[in-house]
Amino acid sequence: MIVFKFGGASVKEAGAVENVARLIARYAPAQTVVVVSAMGKTTNALEGVLRAWYDAPGEQPLERLAAVRHDHFAMMRPLFPAAHPVFPAVDGCFESVARRLAEPPSGLFDFEYDQLVSVGEWLSTTIVSAYLNDKQLATQWCDARRLIITDDCWREAHVDWALTGEAIRAQAAALFDDRRDGRQVLLTQGFVGGTRDGRTTTLGREGSDYTAAIFSHVLDAERMVVWKDVPGVLNADPHLFADPVLLPRISYGEAIELTYYGATVIHPKTIKPLQNKKIPLHVRSFLQPEGPGTLISDEASADPAVPSFIVKRDQRLISIVPKDFSFIAEPHLSVIFTAFAAAGIRINMMQHSAISFTACVSDDDRKIGRLFDQLARSFTIRYNTGLCLFTVRHWTPDAIAMATAGRRVLLEQRNRTTVQLVMTDNPTTEPPAP
Ligand code: ASP
Ligand code: MG
Repeated sequence: MIVFKFGGASVKEAGAVENVARLIARYAPAQTVVVVSAMGKTTNALEGVLRAWYDAPGEQPLERLAAVRHDHFAMMRPLFPAAHPVFPAVDGCFESVARRLAEPPSGLFDFEYDQLVSVGEWLSTTIVSAYLNDKQLATQWCDARRLIITDDCWREAHVDWALTGEAIRAQAAALFDDRRDGRQVLLTQGFVGGTRDGRTTTLGREGSDYTAAIFSHVLDAERMVVWKDVPGVLNADPHLFADPVLLPRISYGEAIELTYYGATVIHPKTIKPLQNKKIPLHVRSFLQPEGPGTLISDEASADPAVPSFIVKRDQRLISIVPKDFSFIAEPHLSVIFTAFAAAGIRINMMQHSAISFTACVSDDDRKIGRLFDQLARSFTIRYNTGLCLFTVRHWTPDAIAMATAGRRVLLEQRNRTTVQLVMTDNPTTEPPAP
């Protein structure tokens, strides 16, 4: 049994959906779970609908919804004959969302987010499953809200592993039958879950990888495959660097470190459920499926010899100094960390000296405002914005020279494997070649 995950880019247009069918026909074993994300940029678009519904004056949520509907119909038309039942099914979904948007929003923004934004995955799986069934790739469409059982922490729901395990195993037992011939495909939504009492939740942005890892873990999959628009895990983001190189094999530990520092190729929560059962994760290109891709596994010796570059933009460097000029000691640190935690801010890098504590964080006016409110009475706070945080794993002097070229370094930390540099961001310069 193998779990396939198809992200938004792999189902962004009619041709891409046809390609998904080819990949399943060619590479899926007899028993396969297929996890699908919302198509293309649908999740962003639905977030826009939600914001328009809530707070943007003059914004028309229904117009924004109509644009999402338009994109879905444009992609469906080449895939299905005009009288296909998928058209009224999709239309009915948009109509029920439109009816909700005609009413005033509730006070529960995060709850409404999950109800509305999860529609993207309902749509994509409905369309992909209809297409696969037409192509004689029989699939069973399953409702992730009844399989991934979570608490009601809207937008970041936590999985109840016991209930989820029971639900998924029961569904798989009903579908997968070793005595039957032919391929058996369980197709479901990434990113989406449901509470015990049946309300829709989501697992956090880009959470479809995590969904696939949950299925893999529960069903003891032989492996999980993530189909991407890149050849595999690269040593640098191809949007930011010229000529990145493919890392053919990496360990779970390296993969966790890369995602921790901000590599976006896989969702950070994905690795643990796989590592715990030693299930290999294969990251492959849906454009060049014959390529080797990247195998993430338990092999410690697999770690790359080349430096990896991870960039986080929109960073703010905050320095916090006690007003009475006292040393930064543990009691201060405890107050400072409590304030960061209460404001919901993750510290990407930190350092302290005799009288100041410095932290690099992803910029977010609302959260940082909350932090400053808490600390302003006892501390003087200064900050720089518009920075980037560069992490170089397996660094070499050349790699550091390349990363820092043309930039001013405000803060630096290094150990044997990793260098982190907080620097001025200068997006006008050409991307360097790693
Ligand atoms: N569609 C969701 C998102 O864009 C989940 C995912 O793609 O993994 O965040
Ligand atoms: Mg995605």
